[in-house]
Amino acid sequence: MGLEDVLSAMRSAEGKAGREGNTVGLVAVSKVQPEERVEAVLAEGHRVFGENRVQEAQDRWTKRREQYPELKLHLIGPLQTNKVRPAVALFDVIETVDREKLARKIAAEAAAQNKTVEVFIQVNTGDEAQKAGVAVEESAELIELCRNELKLNVVGLMAIPPIDEDPAPHFALLAKMAKEAGLPKLSMGMSGDYEIAIAMGATQVRIGSAVFGARKQSAAG
Ligand SMILES: *Cc1c(COP(=O)(O)O)cnc(C)c1O
Repeated sequence: MGLEDVLSAMRSAEGKAGREGNTVGLVAVSKVQPEERVEAVLAEGHRVFGENRVQEAQDRWTKRREQYPELKLHLIGPLQTNKVRPAVALFDVIETVDREKLARKIAAEAAAQNKTVEVFIQVNTGDEAQKAGVAVEESAELIELCRNELKLNVVGLMAIPPIDEDPAPHFALLAKMAKEAGLPKLSMGMSGDYEIAIAMGATQVRIGSAVFGARKQSAAG
């Protein structure tokens, strides 16, 4: 695959779904990838990247920020409250807000750093015990708290469907929830299912291995 192939597959998925071209964004998931692959994708002009660990992201991106001012960094992995300060400092978008304590901490840090971060609420659509994400039935309340009380810039919903299930019903559920909440963005779809996600309304897909090649070690979740 590679960047060009993924982008063209995305454009054709938009077309097949009857969606306007070039409307779905690509978050290139660079976690665990060797530097030379990341450099190659930067050289091709891509500027939106996703990482799932704060420390790894700091190591990789802090200096590159100066070199690439248009960089947009998304945190797509679980966030511990003790890592909120560096996360708010580094990332433009935090996709994994899934509980009140974390939301409060992000709001406090954003205020302290005088920074606005975009936030997605991560929903555990498969109700999996080991997976991050707010329960479906608790999500409306969390969205409400984040928006109205904490004044976070909540832009959308994010989900990772269970690995062994058809992702389509999960994407459909997330899309329905976002619509009900009046949230414009949907972060859903990975290397194995992004075309389905685009058909079901994704506004951004998070793609690692199809862009960069297989990861050496597993960095799931
Ligand atoms: C690793 C990861 C991805 C990308 O996975 P690929 O299958 O390599 O495309 C997307 N989203 C999240 C949350 C991830 O942790």
